[in-house]
Amino acid sequence: MIHQYKNNGYNIVLDVNSGAIHVVDDVTYDMIAEYENTPKEQVIENAAAKYPSIPRDEIGEAYDEITTLKEEKALFTPDEYEGRVIDYTKRPTVVKAMCLNVAHACNLSCKYCFADEGLYFGKKAELMSFEVGKQALDFLIASSGNRVNLEVDFFGGEPTLNFDVVKQLVAYGRSREAESGKKFRFTFTTNGVLLDDDIMEFANREMDNVVLSIDGRKEIHDMMRPRHDGGPTYDTIVPKYQKFAAMREEAGKQYYVRGTYTRNNLDFAKDILHMADLGFHEISIEPVVAPPEEDYALKTEDIPVLEEQYDILAKEMVARYKTDKEFTFFHFMIDLEGGPCVYKRLSGCGSGTEYVSVIPNGDIFPCHQFVGKPDFKIGNVFTGIDRQDIVTEFKGCNVYTREKCRSCFAKFYCSGGCSANAYNFTGNVRGVYDVGCALEKKRVECAIMIKAAQAAKDAQEA
Ligand code: SF4
Ligand code: SF4
Ligand code: SF4
Repeated sequence: MIHQYKNNGYNIVLDVNSGAIHVVDDVTYDMIAEYENTPKEQVIENAAAKYPSIPRDEIGEAYDEITTLKEEKALFTPDEYEGRVIDYTKRPTVVKAMCLNVAHACNLSCKYCFADEGLYFGKKAELMSFEVGKQALDFLIASSGNRVNLEVDFFGGEPTLNFDVVKQLVAYGRSREAESGKKFRFTFTTNGVLLDDDIMEFANREMDNVVLSIDGRKEIHDMMRPRHDGGPTYDTIVPKYQKFAAMREEAGKQYYVRGTYTRNNLDFAKDILHMADLGFHEISIEPVVAPPEEDYALKTEDIPVLEEQYDILAKEMVARYKTDKEFTFFHFMIDLEGGPCVYKRLSGCGSGTEYVSVIPNGDIFPCHQFVGKPDFKIGNVFTGIDRQDIVTEFKGCNVYTREKCRSCFAKFYCSGGCSANAYNFTGNVRGVYDVGCALEKKRVECAIMIKAAQAAKDAQEA
């Protein structure tokens, strides 16, 4: 399977199954489109008619180069993964990442919050106790098989509302590393309101990554991420994030500012560039996932406008490459050299199998987006997994069990999409969320174009 497209002046051909990417001239691009279904003489004839200024022998040579690429398994490569995916699903379940919802409470009322605007479905605020968190870490160690590196994300609600427990859990995790042979990689995600020097210093020392939530321009951020009384938060958090990001960069540690865009900012490229201009170098922004009746929910008719925004962003990132204004955009960071491992390429995030979420009472869910859906409770850290059927269902989610993914050019980068989105929009974790797919495909196209443009720029400078 191949995928051909034109972007920012580049003719790009992706050989889906090998992952090979070719940037070609117009005549080769057109001949590749016909190569598999048209006799050689006809392909050359068509090219000669369309490009009369190009000598016929050059066209013939271009045709032969396509043949060579095919022989070298860099074009029209057959799919060799499908048979192997069944073996992967038979492997024992190993949990290697955990989202710890240490606070089912929040000091904000974000409009799109999957935790009911931070109110947790009308239930009273709940903080995770140290005992539950400790048991969760023990559960993770016990469920992680031979896996050495374990990821733990302190999440909420808002984890700074329960930061003493976060500190205790980090200390507990570290205390178990040597004897268990494990290494914890801690992350925390915050809305920034309660960030202070103490939290920043602790996080800088102990956290491998921090995720700082911000939606972009002040008017957009304050509209979507207000306090409970409707008050703004942008001016409170931005100076703290700038200080924190600078600390992280100086310490050589990861962070990213992460936002959500909605129908209120269909021109979201401006929000990303705004964050870059605030001095942030690692940026992510995601399309909102919202019920269609919400006025800020994305609609199918918005897709062309959103695709254009990714194009605008990609071009700007090419222009900023190797300048002091360069930044990374999470969704354009695809690995074109074949990684991560095959299983991850086929199955994605690992929710419900390799990755789970634990809430303050110790209940386990397939991931943070399934929290609050009782049908998806798979167990409790004190009693273990008792819904193996759900785990098996998630284990079977891959690019070959979702019909639309099988024929999708982006399948090995997207890995079959997000099961939570699929469930929210189709009622089935093996469904496919069409708006999300369109945007994912666009992001993959842009990411490949950026790599091509950067390679061209590097070659020019060499
Ligand atoms: S900060 Fe997070 S948990 Fe709090 S309301 Fe906003 S999205 Fe929800
Ligand atoms: S973009 Fe959509 S169809 Fe393609 S692999 Fe991802 S979820 Fe599947
Ligand atoms: S199912 Fe979706 S929301 Fe949950 S971890 Fe996977 S990608 Fe993230």
